[in-house]
Amino acid sequence: MSEKLLSRQEIFRGKILTLCVDEVLLENNKKSVREVVYHPGAVAILPILNDGCIILVKQFRYPIGRELLEVPAGKLDRNEDPLSCAKRELEEETGYKSESLEYFGSIYTTPGFSNEQIHLYVATNLTKGHQNPDEDELLYISVVHQEKAISMCFNGEIVDAKTIALIMLAHKKGVI
Ligand SMILES: [Mg+2]
Repeated sequence: MSEKLLSRQEIFRGKILTLCVDEVLLENNKKSVREVVYHPGAVAILPILNDGCIILVKQFRYPIGRELLEVPAGKLDRNEDPLSCAKRELEEETGYKSESLEYFGSIYTTPGFSNEQIHLYVATNLTKGHQNPDEDELLYISVVHQEKAISMCFNGEIVDAKTIALIMLAHKKGVI
């Protein structure tokens, strides 16, 4: 199946996203309108310490007006490959480095209105580096035992989708 772009109206171009209203032609020859948030893509990393604990970050998320516990994550810079981005974001947000990042697949977060894709990694063999979060990114490290993190996905303490996806994939693959 496919939909053919007929025309595009760019409503807003910001630092991290572009909002467009696209007119498309469907396969049944009917026209429709798609409101789309175009996004550069991102990475998320599950850092696992040698004692089996995992490193999460707590941040205030303005769009939903509350704090969330999440895996470290960040947007791809222009022309940045996901693995390099994952190494960079891991160190910037947690202060830990790793050369042992394993790719765990990619997810589309909200395909109903955005092309945002997040590439998932698990990081092991962590060593101390330098935490250096962005100036507009206030975050607090939260070290949680892996069993506790899994149960937090079920009891509603962890509700961030990329975080649940990564923890469940890692659990199913036997990494945690
Ligand atoms: Mg981030």
